[in-house]
Amino acid sequence: MKHRIIASIGLALLMLLGFAGGASAADKVKAVASFSILGDMVKQVGGDRVDVITLVGPNGDAHVYEPTPADAKNLAAAQILFTNGLGFEGWMDRLEKSSGFKGTVVVASTGVKPRTMVEDAKTITDPHAWQSLANGRLYVTNIRDGLIAVDPEGKSFYEANTPKYLDEIVKEESDVKAALAALPQDRRKIITSHGAFGYFGAAYGLEIIAPEGVSTESEASARDVAKIIRQIKAEHILAVFMENITDHRLLDQIASETGAKIGGELYTDALSPADGPAPSYLDMFRHNVGALTAALSS
Ligand SMILES: [Zn+2]
Repeated sequence: MKHRIIASIGLALLMLLGFAGGASAADKVKAVASFSILGDMVKQVGGDRVDVITLVGPNGDAHVYEPTPADAKNLAAAQILFTNGLGFEGWMDRLEKSSGFKGTVVVASTGVKPRTMVEDAKTITDPHAWQSLANGRLYVTNIRDGLIAVDPEGKSFYEANTPKYLDEIVKEESDVKAALAALPQDRRKIITSHGAFGYFGAAYGLEIIAPEGVSTESEASARDVAKIIRQIKAEHILAVFMENITDHRLLDQIASETGAKIGGELYTDALSPADGPAPSYLDMFRHNVGALTAALSS
C-alpha cells in the first residue's frame, strides 16, 4: 500500500513537471517566419510550444532580402513556414526549393482583402496588410490553425492562448482609432518613403503619399520627386516620415525643399531590436501612432 502511494505521488509529480515545464527544446515545434513582425505574432500564439526562427530580422528589408545558406539550413529543419504572401517575399519560392523544405506553409495574409494600385501602368498588390489591426487578427487565426495542424497535441493550448492575444489587438485597435480620430481633417496627409501604410491609412483615415511605391525595389525618379514636392506645397502637407527600413536621404531632400517637417521614424516592414521602440507587433502600432499624432496635431 505504502509503495503504491509513493509510486502514485511520483507519477503525479512527473506529470506536473512535464506539464509546468513545457516542452523541451527537442519537442518544440520548429517554425520559421519570413520577417520579424510575423515572427513576433507566431511567438505570441505559439508561446513555449514553438521555437521560431525569423529570416529577415529587426530593421531588415524583406522586399530586397537575399537569403543566406544558414536560412536554407534552418528552413530544411523546420516543420512549418509562415510567410506574409501578397507578393511580399519575392525570394521565398527559390529558397523553399533550394532548401528542400518539406513542411507546412502558412500564408498568414490568407483571407485578407488585398489593396491594389496601378504603378507604371501595371496593377500591383500591396503586401503590407499587417498594418491594419483587423488584418492582424486574421494573421493570428491563420497562425493558430497552422500550428494546430502540425502540433495537434497543442490544440487546447493554442485555443486558450490565441483569444488573449486577439483581445490585446482589439484593444490596441480602439486606441489607434481614438488617437487618430482626434486629428482635424486637414491634418491627415503624410509622406513616407515607400508605400507601406496603405492598409493603415484606409483603416484609420490617413492619406499616404509615397515616392517609392509599394516596394523598396524601385527608386523614385527625379520626376516622381519633383511631382511630390509640388504636391506637398499645393496641398499643405505637414510632415514627412522616415522609415526604419529605408534610406533617409530622399526624405531629407523633400523636407528641406518644401519646408514640411520630419515627423520622426515609422516602423513599417520590420520591428526594432528588443531594446528599441518597436520590439513587438503591438509596440510598433503604439510607437507609430505616437509619432503620427505628435507630428500632425501641433
Ligand atoms: Zn514594404
